[in-house]
Amino acid sequence: MHQTTLRAARPEPQRTCVGCRQRGDRSRLLRVVADRSGGPSVLLPDPGARLPGRGAWLHPEPACLDLAERRRAFPRALRLPGPIDAGAVREHLQQQAEPPHHEHSQSDRPTRTESGSSP
Ligand SMILES: [Zn+2]
Repeated sequence: MHQTTLRAARPEPQRTCVGCRQRGDRSRLLRVVADRSGGPSVLLPDPGARLPGRGAWLHPEPACLDLAERRRAFPRALRLPGPIDAGAVREHLQQQAEPPHHEHSQSDRPTRTESGSSP
């Protein structure tokens, strides 16, 4: 028995990333929810999309998390009155993304501030 189901009958539901605002397959985005049980709101990753409550969707990429934080997309998407701590989600993303073993970024070249318009 060899059944090839190349084309799924049901199209994948689409979600919009709160960071870059691009749409993507639901399975490729990470759902995040706000946990307000412990006082100040914290953002929690919900990889299984099982947690109750209002959720927001995000590409599992630090860049999109940065964008979302910068534009305060989480409080807006989650209907929260104030800012939310996304530390747990950032940690989750860092665990997902395997960093290169020997990271050696030497980019501290001296930046000269020349205002080169002297007469
Ligand atoms: Zn994104």
